[in-house]
Amino acid sequence: MKTLRLVWIYPDLLSTYGDRGNVLILERRARLRGIPVETVEVKSDEKVPADGSIYLMGGGEDLPQTLAARRLLADGGLHEAVRAGGVLFAVCAGYQMLGHDFGGSDGATVQGLGLLDMRSARAEPRSVGEIVADVDPALRVPRLTGFENHQGQTQLGPRARPLSRTLLGVGNGDGTEGAYQGKVLGTYLHGPALVRNPGLADLLLRWATDSELPALPPEAETLSGRLRDERLAAVSTAAAQ
Ligand code: GLN
Repeated sequence: MKTLRLVWIYPDLLSTYGDRGNVLILERRARLRGIPVETVEVKSDEKVPADGSIYLMGGGEDLPQTLAARRLLADGGLHEAVRAGGVLFAVCAGYQMLGHDFGGSDGATVQGLGLLDMRSARAEPRSVGEIVADVDPALRVPRLTGFENHQGQTQLGPRARPLSRTLLGVGNGDGTEGAYQGKVLGTYLHGPALVRNPGLADLLLRWATDSELPALPPEAETLSGRLRDERLAAVSTAAAQ
């Protein structure tokens, strides 16, 4: 079976709130299904390889986010990978960077990577807290639970589809959360997102392997199930309002 190649982009600039956990979950869920997997960490002074299967970008502070966007635009490897059908999963700062542009720390508009048809402006107040959202049924992913902390308000264009509709929290700011376009998917969810939402990890693995995946044995889901139940129960009253 072909080795699944995970590419963790710029851990030195983009990795807040334990976003690295997303890499660990993809590795684990692939291995438990017998899919060989290797992970490449690409620091911000290194070239992005174009032959990865799943690319991951985490959250970041405003300045590292701007720096990362500049470097990725100049590098071109990520664009080449997406053109070749690679899967891209991006969180928060990483998500904002995928749009046409986003609001930088000094209020200036910063050019994004243009891999998702959307743009993000800076908005007050900052969105901080738990988020619960129901995913576009076409993606077959259970309800999302996560944590958001961002200043962005994100507006999708016609080519990007909302990933989900919020029951609790702010997300994009218009009742939706996250976006996807082809095999490029972004979300404001930390937590880390794939640890709290293994169904989202399995979506990325389905896209990357171009196949349906067998369910994992129940004992392999015990801890993630407990975490999900705990987080969803903690906000259930708020989400119901
Ligand atoms: N710097 C961005 C914002 O505040 C993203 C923050 C993050 O990744 N947590 O909107």
